[in-house]
Amino acid sequence: MANRALRTGLVSGLLLLVSEMAFCVSGAQITITIHNEAPIPQKVLEQATQEASRIFHQAGVNSVWILCQQSNAGPSTPPDCRAPVDLIHLSLRIVPWSSQMGDSTFGVAFLSEKGLGTYSDVFYPLAEKLSRQCAASLGRVLGHVMAHEIGHLFLGTNAHSPVGIMRPQWQAEELQQIGMGTLLFTPEQARKMHARLLTPSTDRRAGDTSAPRSGN
Ligand SMILES: [Zn+2]
Repeated sequence: MANRALRTGLVSGLLLLVSEMAFCVSGAQITITIHNEAPIPQKVLEQATQEASRIFHQAGVNSVWILCQQSNAGPSTPPDCRAPVDLIHLSLRIVPWSSQMGDSTFGVAFLSEKGLGTYSDVFYPLAEKLSRQCAASLGRVLGHVMAHEIGHLFLGTNAHSPVGIMRPQWQAEELQQIGMGTLLFTPEQARKMHARLLTPSTDRRAGDTSAPRSGN
């Protein structure tokens, strides 16, 4: 991807990553707060957010990433880590355990009956396992897994597709594409994300997201 710059800065214990795009054709932008509960080195997490940012940029979506460590929990939690979420401000938690739904499950997205959501979990051991199976670094693989789970929040209950980053399972071909940086959202998925992001703000509330409705 050409002409992409990434700016990194420490703000009150947070690492704020802002993806600055040289151009934006749609004006679509999202903010993702990441709660890291897994033993992930900071450098790996930075690479993962850069990778996920690149994937969303390819779909025409600008992204801002706010990293909240466990040490930020409690009454002293910085405001950005407690910010209310809606469909343009999402929350992603990286957990150190595997899914009970099987060891090939990437994570889980919490969706309402309308197929809208703001919260998702990523199972870190699966990203580690995938990185051992392909030539890509752990940070790069984790970034793809994060983008897949965030994709569920935009694309609803039937988000999986036979091609691209929303394939339900990644095998040799997908792992090769991760290494080449070509495992992306399809044009149709990008159009659907734009439609959601450009919806008037009063329609963006996710509603009841009490039940996980999307595995993997
Ligand atoms: Zn999935």
